[in-house]
Amino acid sequence: MTDALAGFVAPWAVFAGILVLHLVLPARHVAGYARDEHTGERLRYRLNGLLVFFVAVGMWFAAGAGGVMPWDWLWQHRWSGAVGALVLGLLLSAAVVLTAPRPDAGDAASGAPPRGRSLLAELYLGRRFNPRMFGGRADAKMFLYLAGATLLELNLLSFGAHHHLTHPADPSPGVMLFVALLSWFVVDYLVFERVHLYTYDLFAERVGFKLVWGCLFWYPYFYAVGLWSVADLPNPHAPAWLTAFAAAMFFAGWVLARGANLQKFTFKRYPERAFLGLVPVAISDGETRILASGFWGLSRHVNYLGEILMATGLTLVLGWPLVLGPWLYPLYYLALLVPRERDDDRRCAAKYGVLWDRYREKVPWRIVPGIY
Ligand code: NDP
Repeated sequence: MTDALAGFVAPWAVFAGILVLHLVLPARHVAGYARDEHTGERLRYRLNGLLVFFVAVGMWFAAGAGGVMPWDWLWQHRWSGAVGALVLGLLLSAAVVLTAPRPDAGDAASGAPPRGRSLLAELYLGRRFNPRMFGGRADAKMFLYLAGATLLELNLLSFGAHHHLTHPADPSPGVMLFVALLSWFVVDYLVFERVHLYTYDLFAERVGFKLVWGCLFWYPYFYAVGLWSVADLPNPHAPAWLTAFAAAMFFAGWVLARGANLQKFTFKRYPERAFLGLVPVAISDGETRILASGFWGLSRHVNYLGEILMATGLTLVLGWPLVLGPWLYPLYYLALLVPRERDDDRRCAAKYGVLWDRYREKVPWRIVPGIY
């Protein structure tokens, strides 16, 4: 097998391994937020993301320490690996969409493609809502996120290792910090995997190119673009204040994103329960409630501000503020989240009607309190 072919099939093999781990390792069984399209029952999930993640990372360490492959193998094969993941993402997206019947009717609230929407739009947004695999043992969406997160982590470790191997005498602390902070982001997602069941992708989106290709290619390769750009460069000897500022920005963003998510999660499950001492203030008509206090009183999507701050902190921590590559990451978040907030606002206006108007009056800011 040539080197390029090995790189090409590497993500396929990693994803297959993650699927096997997900299927065989013990898992907790929980009810989600999305409902079965036909029965209206809440869907149930098997969650073991954190365990799968640590077993996969452990195997990577064992392979490196045992000399089975160089520590930076994934870096050396990053281009062929990215192409392999991209092709797999395209093939699976097409397979998952084209083998499903066309949706009967559109559903503006769920973002489902309406009847008559072009095939291209269906390929992008998907047809199936919550496909299950292996007799319901694996949920396609949750598996896709787990697969993307785990390969991203392996890439981060390998790219960081490459930097150390290339500059052993004077490695950049920024590279190590970048690996640590983005690993924090990945592990945080897996620790709170259950909370993700209450997010837009899980209850509002169908499975198409956006989700499949996004998780299998974009997530594990593009999210590492900062390291991809600077892992070969020497230590920039960035001033300590810049590193500290960048790390503080990352954690401020994390508090906003994770705090808002957890507060909403708590509110959805226990509407009266205080979160971190914040007693919920709801806008309600007696039946339906919207949370309008705490994080959700700052702006209507302060969690998106959190994501953008984390991404900017990650860029700055590398210590190369004038190199363009790492900036692609926060720019991507802007391009993703600004329209997403508009979509979600429309969805919520349709779902909550006058209650949402009252929420908009009480909390006029979309993302950045006092500015936007
Ligand atoms: P949200 O977590 O903001 O979820 C939006 C939904 O929450 C709405 O559709 C509505 O659904 C409900 N909601 C909104 N406002 C309120 C309110 N005031 N009170 C009660 N319910 C409300 O967005 P996403 O699902 O897009 O994102 C989930 C998380 O993932 C976020 O933290 C986001 O930042 C993060 N994310 C991360 C990305 C990444 O690549 N790192 C990319 C995209 C998102 P309903 O009322 O029907 O329950």
